[in-house]
Amino acid sequence: MRDIIIIGGGLAGLTAGMYTKRAGLDTLLFEKMFTGGQAATTNLIENYPGFDDPISGPDFAMRIENHARKFGLEIQYDEIKELQLEGPVKKVLTDNKVYEAKAVILAMGAEPRKLGLDKEEEFRGRGVSYCATCDGAFFRDKDVAVVGGGDTAAEDALFLAQYVNKVYLIHRRDTLRATKIIADRVLANEKIEKVWDSVVTGINGDDKVTGIEVENVKTRAKKEIKLDGIFIAIGVIPNSELVQGKVEMNESNYILTDDSMRTNVPGVFAAGDIRQKPLLQLVTAAADGAIAAYSAQKYIIEELGQ
Ligand SMILES: Cc1cc2nc3c(=O)[nH]c(=O)nc-3n(C[C@H](O)[C@H](O)[C@H](O)COP(=O)(O)OP(=O)(O)OC[C@H]3O[C@@H](n4cnc5c(N)ncnc54)[C@H](O)[C@@H]3O)c2cc1C
Repeated sequence: MRDIIIIGGGLAGLTAGMYTKRAGLDTLLFEKMFTGGQAATTNLIENYPGFDDPISGPDFAMRIENHARKFGLEIQYDEIKELQLEGPVKKVLTDNKVYEAKAVILAMGAEPRKLGLDKEEEFRGRGVSYCATCDGAFFRDKDVAVVGGGDTAAEDALFLAQYVNKVYLIHRRDTLRATKIIADRVLANEKIEKVWDSVVTGINGDDKVTGIEVENVKTRAKKEIKLDGIFIAIGVIPNSELVQGKVEMNESNYILTDDSMRTNVPGVFAAGDIRQKPLLQLVTAAADGAIAAYSAQKYIIEELGQ
């Protein structure tokens, strides 16, 4: 039996692994795709402390993985398909094997909700972005669109309006769902052109975004908007299906934890984008991972007496 099994090799999981290994705990981390998680899929990271020159997502991911491996973290590339979390022995199942651990750290992250358009995936990092805070600065003085009508879309539009030439805010309704004070700021901002009652039906470009196709849902009129970037802010989906009904979550399926990253199930901790918190970023994922590791260690010593 392992001391700790970590599920997910994004920044939260890798940081947790670094900390548990440094604490001398027998740790196994599972990653179903590639280490680095969402960070590995992004173009440049320029807001992680210590990296004063922007670093590419894949390079960042490699450095964090190397750092964790330096402490002897064992990483296994396999998808976890089932978890049995009751009692002092936690069972973690892949397709063909059952692993046991004293504590489990859930770090499966989140995925941006997609529009589901052709070229959306292909142009990710080449004009298609799901994170204005992260990528906005790359579009200085350019024209961009934000898709969505909630708080995130409204805040993204306001944020981008500080850098870019023009923001088209494309929303399927004719009012914003965003909090009134934020919505009012959007409505008053002359750099933000509101494209109401409209949906994006296509992304144009050969090797990067050069425009989008937009359709009015009331009149069915179509038009092309020429621009350099499209920020899709229609929500994110936490990768929490695995623990649905097993740990407490909010209505959007984010896992609820306390400040020590404890879930409601003893011996089960959650870190990073999978848990409910105000800022889903790398720096907070790393912090969560460190806290979850510390709390898991404390649980093994204090609760299990080992
Ligand atoms: C395009 C983009 C750009 C971004 N840019 C920045 C930026 O510049 N700065 C910043 O601070 N933040 C940025 N973010 C946000 C940041 O990437 C996330 O906050 C951070 O990656 C969260 O880390 P995490 O470890 O919690 O989750 P993730 O990075 O989502 O990692 C979770 C990992 O778990 C794995 N996993 C899921 N389910 C299973 C399973 N069943 N079995 C095994 N493995 C599993 C996944 O494959 C994934 O590798 C960006 C996000 C995106 C999408």
